[in-house]
Amino acid sequence: MSTIYLNGKYLPLEQATVSVEDRGFLFGDGVYEVVRLYHGRPFELEAHLQRLRRSIQGAHLPLPNAVADLPAIIERLMAENDLQDANAYVELTRGPAHPRSHAFPAQARPTFLVMPLPIHALPDDAFTRGVSAITVPDVRWRRCDIKSIMLLPNTLAKQQAREQEAFEAIFVRDAIVIEGASTNMFAVIEGLLTTHPADQDMLAGITRQVVLALAADLGLGVREAQFTLDQLYGAEEVFLTSTTAEVVPITQIDGRLVGQGRPGPVTMRLAEAFQKTVGAGIRG
Ligand code: PLP
Repeated sequence: MSTIYLNGKYLPLEQATVSVEDRGFLFGDGVYEVVRLYHGRPFELEAHLQRLRRSIQGAHLPLPNAVADLPAIIERLMAENDLQDANAYVELTRGPAHPRSHAFPAQARPTFLVMPLPIHALPDDAFTRGVSAITVPDVRWRRCDIKSIMLLPNTLAKQQAREQEAFEAIFVRDAIVIEGASTNMFAVIEGLLTTHPADQDMLAGITRQVVLALAADLGLGVREAQFTLDQLYGAEEVFLTSTTAEVVPITQIDGRLVGQGRPGPVTMRLAEAFQKTVGAGIRG
């Protein structure tokens, strides 16, 4: 039974409850973060904290003091649950309010949750063979830079991918490739590593930022610029990034092979550099 943190208390998961009037439950009125722990240590915690503060600001949520305590809360949860490699899930909602009403309540008491999550197991051959993806229309709002818990378009897209036996769904808006349902997208186009610019149409992934820094270290040509669905189909290489999936080659999109249909050299160099950075060794 795992111990979680809820509103200042450390509790067994089974005893941790939230009001049915919580605005997170009723409106999806909240924000979240997912931080990866490698060997018991949170990876890029400061970047996640900065993004959480930006999401809180963007959602006009009050900034709870507990956000400053997050490093200590995560450390205690990992110790109490005896975890070394796991994810920490952090969620802040506007809290319970009575009666249900769209506009903010006069007195909001935010709900703040931190709980460990197991690491997603990727398909065994994800790194050697790559994964497949489908594309879907991006029907989301125009503030995807806020890491909101309002994830229905993302869950619908991911479910569609599962039903088509694909690993990820890629959002496309006006023929522009935006990002995955829970990942950022990179494509090697005419030799240049290309990824959508971090604007309000997408979430600026922490892994994306780490990969951009690694690409610069490796002397790779990088372009943060929009690219089209046709350019995605014609790309030499495509890969996705996220805290939970890390760097994963995509070798098939909408049933078409990407390049030769095998993970490409740029992807593999970056995946290996990423594994070195997190100190987990290079995957075979
Ligand atoms: N884009 C979306 C929509 C996401 O939900 C996520 C992660 O959950 C990402 C991108 C990747 O972000 P990060 O690398 O910070 O995990």
